[in-house]
Amino acid sequence: MSEPSFFRPAVTKMAAYVPGEQPPPGKYIKLNTNENPYPPPPQVVEAIRAAAAGPLNRYPDPVATAFRRAAAESLGLPGPEWILAGNGSDEILTILVRGFVGDGERLRLPYPSYVLYRTLADIQGASWEQVQFDADWKLPAAFGEPADGLKLVLLPNPNSPSGTIVSPAEVTSFAETLNCPLVVDEAYADFAEQNCLHLVAQHPRILVTRTLSKSYGLAGIRFGFLVANPDVIQELAKIKDSYNCDGLSIAAATAAMGCRQWLAENCARIVASRDRMTDELVKLGFEVTPSHANFVWCRHPGGQHGAIYEFLKNQQILVRYMQFGDWGDGLRISVGTDEQIDACLMMLKKFLA
Ligand SMILES: *Cc1c(COP(=O)(O)O)cnc(C)c1O
Repeated sequence: MSEPSFFRPAVTKMAAYVPGEQPPPGKYIKLNTNENPYPPPPQVVEAIRAAAAGPLNRYPDPVATAFRRAAAESLGLPGPEWILAGNGSDEILTILVRGFVGDGERLRLPYPSYVLYRTLADIQGASWEQVQFDADWKLPAAFGEPADGLKLVLLPNPNSPSGTIVSPAEVTSFAETLNCPLVVDEAYADFAEQNCLHLVAQHPRILVTRTLSKSYGLAGIRFGFLVANPDVIQELAKIKDSYNCDGLSIAAATAAMGCRQWLAENCARIVASRDRMTDELVKLGFEVTPSHANFVWCRHPGGQHGAIYEFLKNQQILVRYMQFGDWGDGLRISVGTDEQIDACLMMLKKFLA
């Protein structure tokens, strides 16, 4: 006889979030989870080394003050009190959902987009509603409509898997009609020409999250942050773990904030590779959504996206095959080095031949 479940019903009912495959390093050309194909700035590695030689028996700064000062300076924010540091921006999203969305309440997200938001609602015993993008990846006015029980709206911008962007003007108009905070998840904003950071000071309902995982090449250290009004930051800080960021990652992230030049050059390089990859995919007959991020969303008129994914995987190339029910499926391919892109293109050509 089996034990009764001691778990909360919300947990028993929910499905687990499934992150992209993370095989041991070396075996695959890895174009499936939008990591930076290049190593992080050398100053960051040096800062981790120096921190590892430091007093590891002591707890880190609970609020990552050095990082917040450096980030405020680097981003031109009024001060560190506008920033909350987190163990990856996924933790920041968890803190936001815990802070704003309770049992029986609801969050809103666009569709198709980042599935993790739904998992975070599920954990809370909350529900979620999705507003579908138009055929040209515009969001309808319904995305900004207020509703009873709606407590938080989340918008990845640039969006994943499409790489498309909603303009700051549109974001503002959604925030103005909503009756709850609007979180702009800017995990990929460093690759785009526009972002919504400046809106935070102008509009108290707009919050922005950022991560060091993509543009800074630091997915391995887990560091992200929120930019919001100081009183919002203070409330949310009550929810976080006391020492949510460890000393090594605080040191790394602080050093990274001083690497603006590196960031600009790295992003420019990835954007150039992305545009070339887009052109080549189009030549192979793919429909490619113009991207503002470090990945592209593509579909082939012949379909077979699952088969293409499997074929590439057999050739040691990992991309992301994504299915969105009735909406359809496709491939999300991260921008790798030019060499990795060429290997991927060659195999696609072979598959299609
Ligand atoms: C990658 C990604 C994140 C997660 O970033 P971490 O800081 O690594 O947790 C958040 N949002 C979106 C849309 C992402 O693609």
